[in-house]
Amino acid sequence: MKINTEVLHAEQMHDPVTGSHVSPLYQTSTFVLPNFDDAVYLNQNIDKGFVYSRFANPTVDELEKKIAYLEHAEAALGLSSGLGAISTAIMSVIKGGDHVIFGDVIYGCTFALFTKILPLFNVEYTIVDTTKPEALAAAIKPNTTLVYVETPSNPTLKVSDIAAIAEIVRQHKDITMIVDSTFASPYLQNPLDLGADLVVHSATKYLCGHGTVTAGVIAGDKKRIDRCRMPYLQCFGAVLDPFAAWQIMQGMKTLAVRMERHCENALKVAQYLESHPKVDKVYYPGLPSHPSHATAKKQMRGFGGMMSVDVKGGMDAVRTVMNNVKVFSLATSLGNVDSLIQHSPSMSHFDMTAEERHAVSIFDGQVRLSVGIEDAEDLIADLEQALALI
Ligand SMILES: *Cc1c(COP(=O)(O)O)cnc(C)c1O
Repeated sequence: MKINTEVLHAEQMHDPVTGSHVSPLYQTSTFVLPNFDDAVYLNQNIDKGFVYSRFANPTVDELEKKIAYLEHAEAALGLSSGLGAISTAIMSVIKGGDHVIFGDVIYGCTFALFTKILPLFNVEYTIVDTTKPEALAAAIKPNTTLVYVETPSNPTLKVSDIAAIAEIVRQHKDITMIVDSTFASPYLQNPLDLGADLVVHSATKYLCGHGTVTAGVIAGDKKRIDRCRMPYLQCFGAVLDPFAAWQIMQGMKTLAVRMERHCENALKVAQYLESHPKVDKVYYPGLPSHPSHATAKKQMRGFGGMMSVDVKGGMDAVRTVMNNVKVFSLATSLGNVDSLIQHSPSMSHFDMTAEERHAVSIFDGQVRLSVGIEDAEDLIADLEQALALI
């Protein structure tokens, strides 16, 4: 099957009891077990049946199978947020005394996990520009156990060469490579095919697509996913609610058509903004001017719906634009069907210091756009009138 068919039909369950076309929502915390001996067995073999929704739930299970299918993975795990997925995946592969390597431009709360929390558990880190695989190779130490790559990266859309990094990582048997592929969604790239060990998504974003839930997913080989589930998710408890999983599945039915329109609209908006006199710079990998354009072209099936924009006039100009847009909503998050605008330095990346942000081109006069599936002409007209007020 090709992708438009896959997103609709892969692992699609029709209720065998009632014939319900849309799969039922199993909104339950626990399951009635047939007898004492089965209860003992199932509690110790949670992939043989359902016992308790912190371990597994049929609705979440259906979503997990769909994600595994779309990411070409053996297995997947649903969690209550992107950070739930990221922290669970990371904790499942590291221990005290380890060294981790991660990219210099990553989601702000992931950055905080590495720099504020993991050092409390004696996990040291090196930050590298993951668009330069040779810099990553040079940072590997004997105790390195994790290479963490976000691509395209939030918010400056740096694209790292997953296959090139995986080739380096593969020479060290104790290192796990995790890729945060949130900005791409499974529609635009499949990191496991390129050699990553685990892929994580904030399903809050493109997978759901409608801004109705927070959720996350991890996909990879069965052994790694089993370990993420038991004991990590079991003990940390960032469990995905069945209703949230059910909503994501409804959203995912239109993933392919949504992503096509996101890509098409974002390119038009990026091209318009790049030639605007009040704009300094547009960070969109679909533009030949973006340093990651070639890598994105090689690795991705499209350039996505996200971009950042340096507005001339710094924070005051940004305030004017953000206070006056009418079609874009002033809101953090991304990947919704409707367009959003946010200020990365003070919103998604407030966990970094000003020096840390400026060193990686997250400037105070920068806005991040999540370009939705409206008519591109309306989005451009909205930005035009807001920029005119500066
Ligand atoms: C939003 C986001 C996250 C965090 O996801 P939540 O669902 O908000 O926990 C992680 N990585 C990236 C790239 C994101 O954009």
